Amino acid sequence: MAKDATFRAYTPYSNFHVGAALLLENGEVVTGANQENASFPAGTCAERSAIFYAASRYPGVRFVRLAITAWQKGDFVEEPTAPCGVCRQAILEYEKLGKQPIEILLCGRHKVYRINGIRALLPLSFEEF
Ligand SMILES: [Zn+2]
Repeated sequence: MAKDATFRAYTPYSNFHVGAALLLENGEVVTGANQENASFPAGTCAERSAIFYAASRYPGVRFVRLAITAWQKGDFVEEPTAPCGVCRQAILEYEKLGKQPIEILLCGRHKVYRINGIRALLPLSFEEF
């Protein structure tokens, strides 16, 4: 589903299509794709598109697993795609709210890195609560 989501990205500037698929504890899967903007900070990543929609549509429902991948120049990327720093911080917030690690799958063309919780990707994170 993350791969399918890459084709819904809007990327006229980078041509780097990222897709994310988020499995919720209620069984729903919410997908997201990066959405760019002429004013670069106004755009958003696939991961945050998915998690913010999920939190808005299903408030209080835990996130179980997040798969991320990317497509560029006619194919899925060779190496697994990792979330940017802003997305890592956003994922951490929902992981803390859910009181359990969110499994993260970083997917490349032929390999997947399985990570048990965002803290492995965000050491010494900023935390207010
Ligand atoms: Zn990001």
